Amino acid sequence: MKTVWAPWRIEYILENKKEGCIFCNALSKNDDLTLFKGKLSMVVMNKFPYINGHLLVAPVRHLSSLDGLNKREKTDLLDLVDKSIGILKLTMKPDGFNVGLNLGKVAGAGIEEHLHFHIVPRWFGDTNALAVFADVRVIPEHLKATYTNLKPHFKNLKLST
Ligand SMILES: [Zn+2]
Repeated sequence: MKTVWAPWRIEYILENKKEGCIFCNALSKNDDLTLFKGKLSMVVMNKFPYINGHLLVAPVRHLSSLDGLNKREKTDLLDLVDKSIGILKLTMKPDGFNVGLNLGKVAGAGIEEHLHFHIVPRWFGDTNALAVFADVRVIPEHLKATYTNLKPHFKNLKLST
């Protein structure tokens, strides 16, 4: 197995401790990572992405598991995952996606107390690029450019709920 040097993971661990819940924080203030704030669900760009375009879709309510959500919240959340994939398809033209939940620390959840779907766009041959994107100098530029690219598409987003 190849070891990837990822100094930004340290920044992630330290920042995560002092900042509290990034989703609840995003709801109370404006930042340059939050793409969409709906009534029930929201979309935030992962500040420490595995790849360019890595999005996090979460319910507005601070909950750790799916069974705590009501029917409307479940519908809204999945609708927002679907529409976010649609926007990524349109703007970044990936070849595929990894979409999923990490439930519990053992499963790799960074913020386990606030449920969130990861949407990771994938391109053919991107496994080599992952190491490049993980570089601390490259990430902020990608984040800014991607935010500017995606934000207008989320601005007038209408969900079914
Ligand atoms: Zn929260």
